[in-house]
Amino acid sequence: MIYLGDQFNALNEYSKVAVCWLGVKLKGRNTYNCGDSTCVFCNGNGKKRSGLDQDFRNLFTDSVIHELVTAKPIRLFQLHNILLTEYVSIPGKTVNNFKRYCKLLFVDSGYTNWFLKEKKNYWLANLLDQHTCTYCNREYIFIYKNKAGGKGMVPQFDHWFAKTDYPLLGLSFYNLIPSCATCNAIKSTTTFNLVDHLHPYVDTNISSSYMFSYLPISVTNNQLIFKNNSLFNFKGLDTVSALNLPLIYEGHSTKELQDLIDLRYKYSDNYLNILLEKTFGHLDIPKEERYRLIFGIELEEEKYHKRIFSKFKNDIIKELLSINN
Ligand SMILES: [Zn+2]
Ligand SMILES: [Zn+2]
Repeated sequence: MIYLGDQFNALNEYSKVAVCWLGVKLKGRNTYNCGDSTCVFCNGNGKKRSGLDQDFRNLFTDSVIHELVTAKPIRLFQLHNILLTEYVSIPGKTVNNFKRYCKLLFVDSGYTNWFLKEKKNYWLANLLDQHTCTYCNREYIFIYKNKAGGKGMVPQFDHWFAKTDYPLLGLSFYNLIPSCATCNAIKSTTTFNLVDHLHPYVDTNISSSYMFSYLPISVTNNQLIFKNNSLFNFKGLDTVSALNLPLIYEGHSTKELQDLIDLRYKYSDNYLNILLEKTFGHLDIPKEERYRLIFGIELEEEKYHKRIFSKFKNDIIKELLSINN
């Protein structure tokens, strides 16, 4: 998994749009207006979402709408509990009603019909500017918009708090994680929580919380494994397992992993070290660039997302170089 930072610029752009879209859908243009005469939602011809009960609409003050779009994950989880409790305290209102209305507004209208069909996914992906899957760092998630109007290429957006359990958070910025199709599919069937699992917008220490390593089975057979970096905190390993990364990465044991091990042991006295330290030696090429040229990866954590396998290969190379014999 890759830490995504705060992404304040993307958040700012996204919230300007998503807050007004929600405001108009919940309250209608007569009641909701952000005051900006250029706002396409408040001054457009969008209508209130039909089929929601008034008690449900009343839960959403302007500040609740704003928070639902912009709050960090811990607060989003609180908001879910607060609004749900408030709604079911009204006589006759049930949890199922709440979830059904949330699904109608935030998932069906909001995420599916607005965010995806109106290609807001391309726009948000562009703002976030992430090049590989946040969860696996194994697939590129390039953006290519087909100008002819057909299907282009765009990352999927995984809802970290799944939209089946938390439909209220269907449009929340910090709940939309750019990812590949494989990871999105795996995540959709697994329930994540902030105590046991890493969140790419919360945990700043993601890359140091687990490590790629390997288990030698024979000279030509090595098994890629994951190791925890702490004896007391298993969040890293639990997250990796929940994302099914050990299985997803299994196929790379005989390919990329074996290549690195061969460079270390098979060819000469630590050819891996020679490659990194001596190749381009006379050209004075910085270390980061050498890693990119030789292994096709980024060396710095904050750039891991730019190249697939950056964390995987960096961890393995580090381990191989630390072995003396
Ligand atoms: Zn507006
Ligand atoms: Zn992925």
